[in-house]
Amino acid sequence: MVDVADLAGWIVNSGCTVALTGAGISTASGLPDFRGPSGIWRRLDPSGFEIDALREDPDRVWRMFVEHFLPDADLRPNPAHLALADLESIGRLCAVITQNVDGLHQIAGSRNVIELHGSTREAVCTSCGTRVEIRSAVAQVRSTGRAPRCPHCGGLLRPDVIFFGEPLPREALSAAIGYAARSDVFMAIGTSLTVAPANSLPMRAKLNGAKLVIINGEPTEMDGEADLVINGKVEEVLPSLVQEVRRLAEE
Ligand code: ZN
Repeated sequence: MVDVADLAGWIVNSGCTVALTGAGISTASGLPDFRGPSGIWRRLDPSGFEIDALREDPDRVWRMFVEHFLPDADLRPNPAHLALADLESIGRLCAVITQNVDGLHQIAGSRNVIELHGSTREAVCTSCGTRVEIRSAVAQVRSTGRAPRCPHCGGLLRPDVIFFGEPLPREALSAAIGYAARSDVFMAIGTSLTVAPANSLPMRAKLNGAKLVIINGEPTEMDGEADLVINGKVEEVLPSLVQEVRRLAEE
């Protein structure tokens, strides 16, 4: 039987530990899960967030985005986010690869964050690529009821998140693949590992010799491939893990 103490030992002896995070790390901050029993996709039709919908009726897509996808202003990172930031700050975590768009890893203090699905912190111009804070884009939507426009060229702004039917951002994906291949400990945290291509990263890491660790509230389809599975609350497991890493590292 291996457990958190063994994992801490692996991390201390690792040259590159990588974390892949999903919605389960943010539910403890009060964000709804997307695919769970009370998830957003049980209430909303995902076809409203296909890339074609954005092209055909950007006003409507933006109004839906503002209503359902804006994180609360008082959203805060929870102990799981903070633990990963801590692990990076003591030089024991190479990168966080996240499927989340909430920006909570960065708010927690993580520096090397790869966002596979983009981020709700910014909007980006579809014509000239200018980025603006999501707040100013949302203010336009709220005052006009229409899709916001680029302050430089007047082009259509879009939320900087991936819509259904779109490929993942190429740079983020290749960075994620690179880290998965380089890692010798790969932790999948709070992700059901059902969404491609993020779910291919753990196997890529494992095939390159990494120890695969799954930390999640419920079993996942990949548990059978893992060197260690921890079923528990990520906001409890990660702080105790980092405490153990600190203790071992000081020995
Ligand atoms: Zn523009």
